[in-house]
Amino acid sequence: MPAPAGPLSPALKVKKSGAEVTIMKVHLKQIPAEGTHLKGKEKSDILELEDDRIKTLGTVEYSVDIGVSGSSLFVTGKLGIDVELECVSCLKRFVYAVRVHNFSAQVELAGPELVDLTPWIREDILLALPVHPHCDWDRKTVCVGPRLKYLKVEKDSKAPNAWDALDHLNLNRRK
Ligand SMILES: [Zn+2]
Repeated sequence: MPAPAGPLSPALKVKKSGAEVTIMKVHLKQIPAEGTHLKGKEKSDILELEDDRIKTLGTVEYSVDIGVSGSSLFVTGKLGIDVELECVSCLKRFVYAVRVHNFSAQVELAGPELVDLTPWIREDILLALPVHPHCDWDRKTVCVGPRLKYLKVEKDSKAPNAWDALDHLNLNRRK
């Protein structure tokens, strides 16, 4: 992913629920008539993930084109972050690369010259997370499948067989 943005970085530090987090805000004054390109990183806090099975690794990276047309701000570009997920099959934790290649947002400009793109970024990244994560998503990893303890249904020749037990029961009745 690209290097951090220069002085045009839209990142502003704000206080939010007691903790200082960085969110992506765009100054309209920064956007020339022909539009602009912004790239940089945001702390993964902006995703507000509350699922213990998802752990973010590193930052949210973005590379977007921003333009203003009429009363709307248009944003298109790419987002990415690496996360650690748990395989629903083998329960192994693995790194999943979340990549949004067609991020887009249209924001109506209702007055303030600061536009916060965080909700759009968060939504698109959350939508890109797999609902049922599998460790072999990269087609290189081989998932070992469900753990053996859940699969121990193989017939043990020494174990009593249900039909044998029934036969035994019938014999007893006949006695
Ligand atoms: Zn697996």
